[in-house]
Amino acid sequence: MITRNPCIANIKAGYLFPEIARRRREFAVTHPDAKIISLGVGNTTEPILPHIDQGLVEGARQLATPEGYSGYQDEGLLSLRKRISSVFYKEAFDADEVFISDGAKCDIGRLQLLFGAGAQVAVQDPSYPVYVDGSVLSGAAGGWNGAGYAGITYLPCTAENDYFPDVAALPENGLLYFCSPNNPTGAVATRAQLEALVKESTAKGLIIIFDAAYSEYIRDPTLPKSIFEIEGAKTCAIEVNSFSKPAGFTGVRLGWTVVPKTLKYAGGESVNADWARICGTIFNGASNIAQAGGLAALDDEGLLEIRQLCDFYLDNAKLIRAALRDLGIACVGGDNSPYVWARFPGRDSWDVFAEILEKCHVVTTPGSGFGPAGQSFIRFSAFGHRLDVEEACKRLAGLKK
Ligand code: PLP
Repeated sequence: MITRNPCIANIKAGYLFPEIARRRREFAVTHPDAKIISLGVGNTTEPILPHIDQGLVEGARQLATPEGYSGYQDEGLLSLRKRISSVFYKEAFDADEVFISDGAKCDIGRLQLLFGAGAQVAVQDPSYPVYVDGSVLSGAAGGWNGAGYAGITYLPCTAENDYFPDVAALPENGLLYFCSPNNPTGAVATRAQLEALVKESTAKGLIIIFDAAYSEYIRDPTLPKSIFEIEGAKTCAIEVNSFSKPAGFTGVRLGWTVVPKTLKYAGGESVNADWARICGTIFNGASNIAQAGGLAALDDEGLLEIRQLCDFYLDNAKLIRAALRDLGIACVGGDNSPYVWARFPGRDSWDVFAEILEKCHVVTTPGSGFGPAGQSFIRFSAFGHRLDVEEACKRLAGLKK
C-alpha cells in the first residue's frame, strides 16, 4: 500500500476553524436553548449587492448564447486582468502579470510550488493559518518542536512593536508571508514600515508574498493598499488579493495574484514565467461567471457597492470596539480592517473563548490559534448581520460579572 505524505503528519493540529466549530457544536448540545451568535470566522454574511449580482447573472446568461459562450480562460479574462491593473495598480502591470484565481487562499497554497520543499519561510506571528499550514503541507517547514515549526521563522507582532515585526530578524533567501490589513490583528502597516520591509527583503534576498485581501477596508488615505505602492517592491514581491471580502464573493470564488516580470529567483530565472507554467499545468482558471461578476464589481457602480459593503462591516467593527472599550478591554484594529484584536493579559486564549461562549453565547476566535504571539488575545470578526452584532455587543457586557 502507498504510504502517507509525511508532510501531512507534520501538521500539528486540526485547522483552527473546524476546532472552533466542534466546540460550538458541543456547547449547543449542552445548552440547547442558547441562541449562539458567531463573531468568530471571517466569512461574509451580507448579500451580494445588486449591480455586482447582475454581472454574475449576465455572465451566466452569456454562456447560453453562441456569441457569449466561453470555455477555458487560462490566466483569466483579458478584460478583467486589464481592469485589475487599472483599478488597483494604476496600470503598472501588463495583463500577463495579473493572474486570475479562484481565491487568495487557493493561490497562497499553490504559490509554494514555486519554491519547493525546504524553502525557508517567515511569517508574522500571529498570522492567517494558511501561511504556516500550507508551508508545512508542501514540505517547506520542519516538524513541530513544541512551540512552532522548526523550519518557520515566527516574527512576533505584539502591542510592544505596534504589531509590526522587527525586520532585522528576517531570515536570508527565504519567503515572507505578510498580510496588511492584517488578519487577525487588524493592524495596517504604514508606508514607512513597508518601505523598511521592502528594503530589508531586497537586501536579504527574500520574496514577500503580500496578502492584500482586506485592502478595500482601508479608510486612512495615508496607508498603502498594495505592496506595489512601495518603490522596489516589483523586484521582491508577489501580491495576492481577493473579491471575497470586498464584494462578498466568499462563496463565488474569485481572486488574483500579481507576479511582476521583474521578479527573479537567485539564479536569475523569471518567477512570472514559472507561475504561468504552474497555473497552466494544475489550474484551469476561475469560473467565467465569477469573472463576469468581478468585472461588474470593478466598474464605477460596482466600486461604489464595494465601498458600501466594506463600510457596513466597518460599522460593525466600530460597535464591537465600543463594546470592548466599555468593558475596559484594550483592543486594536477594526478601523481599517474588519477584525478587532482584543487583549486579555495573563489569560489563555482558549479559556477566554470558553468564558465568552459560556457567559455571552458568542463565538470568537482564540488568538493562540494564529500563532504563539496570539496567546492572551481574542479576535472578533465584524462579519455578521447588524442585529446579531448589536445583540452580541449587548451580551458582552455580561463579561463584567
Ligand atoms: N487571506 C486572508 C488574510 C484571509 O483572511 C482570507 C480569508 O479569510 C483569505 C486570504 C482567503 O481569501 P479567498 O476567499 O479569496 O480564498
